[in-house]
Amino acid sequence: PPPPPPAAGCRPTSLEELARLYEAHPEATLIAGATDVGLWVTKDLRDLSMPLFLGAIPELRRIEEAAGSLRVGAMVTISDLRAALAPRLPGLADLLRRFASVQIRNAATLGGNIANGSPIGDTPPALIALGATLHLRRGETRRDLPLEEFFLDYRKQDRRPGEFVEAVTIPTEAPGLRCYKLSKRFDQDISAVCGCFNISVEAGRVAAARLAFGGMAGIPKRAAAVEAALLGRPWTLATIEAARPAFAEDFTPLSDMRASAGYRLEAAAALLVRAFHDLQGHPVSVLEVEA
Ligand SMILES: Cc1cc2nc3c(=O)[nH]c(=O)nc-3n(C[C@H](O)[C@H](O)[C@H](O)COP(=O)(O)OP(=O)(O)OC[C@H]3O[C@@H](n4cnc5c(N)ncnc54)[C@H](O)[C@@H]3O)c2cc1C
Repeated sequence: PPPPPPAAGCRPTSLEELARLYEAHPEATLIAGATDVGLWVTKDLRDLSMPLFLGAIPELRRIEEAAGSLRVGAMVTISDLRAALAPRLPGLADLLRRFASVQIRNAATLGGNIANGSPIGDTPPALIALGATLHLRRGETRRDLPLEEFFLDYRKQDRRPGEFVEAVTIPTEAPGLRCYKLSKRFDQDISAVCGCFNISVEAGRVAAARLAFGGMAGIPKRAAAVEAALLGRPWTLATIEAARPAFAEDFTPLSDMRASAGYRLEAAAALLVRAFHDLQGHPVSVLEVEA
């Protein structure tokens, strides 16, 4: 028989129980760290009639190491993710230092940051630049997809009713990864633009390039035209200058209270210049640069 509806709220304690419950009741609201969902209640005064809390499932809190990657459970907090990434991907760990505040990072989860589908969430651009794989589950059916294919359109993701994020596999061998977040405040602020650059240079030429941005489109998105303008070319400021017009091919950003469209386009291109200098070993952080 199908499990009873979680009318009063449910707190499954195993992955199997969650999979069965959510498949039977896809109308339920999954609650992870509640740093987004909490606001639906306190600000929008919404009634979450069927909450399904994910916090009592140990498997979702696991971080497993494999050759060249980490498999990170959906309920791993941003603080724990940052600690795991610090020795492997310091550029991404530094970005996560800019994610909200300690209190939010201790509650907010990786799964929630991806599943909410925000175009300005901090983890998706870096994970797309790394080529991360998303692990989804619905009942007994599991499927994997490149994270970049999960984001279809503004607030529209490739997630079926009753399907949840189980984990994300993050490649960890990316010494060239650089991540930058532009926001009006250093702490506790959402990105106006977030740019992540995974660039490999061999014999002075760009051998591989995955660039992904937040705040530039309705979804976190790769800069395919900019990548094409860099690939195979000498890794120089002249190449970066020649690639600049490609940003307008990849992105038509919006103007909002965080930034104008023009600022966003200029800033995204400027972040590529910053990545260039960073990869040369020049100081580029506001914490390092002196006037
Ligand atoms: C003060 C404040 C500052 C913030 N600053 C930032 C910031 O700097 N950068 C940033 O990126 N975000 C920021 N956020 C937004 C938020 O903290 C993040 O998006 C966070 O990662 C959400 O995770 P959560 O675990 O709290 O998700 P929840 O709020 O629990 O859930 C978010 C959404 O994801 C769904 N969901 C959760 N887990 C799963 C799963 N495993 N499978 C499927 N669906 C799931 C929920 O149903 C809901 O729709 C901020 C929020 C606040 C309140």
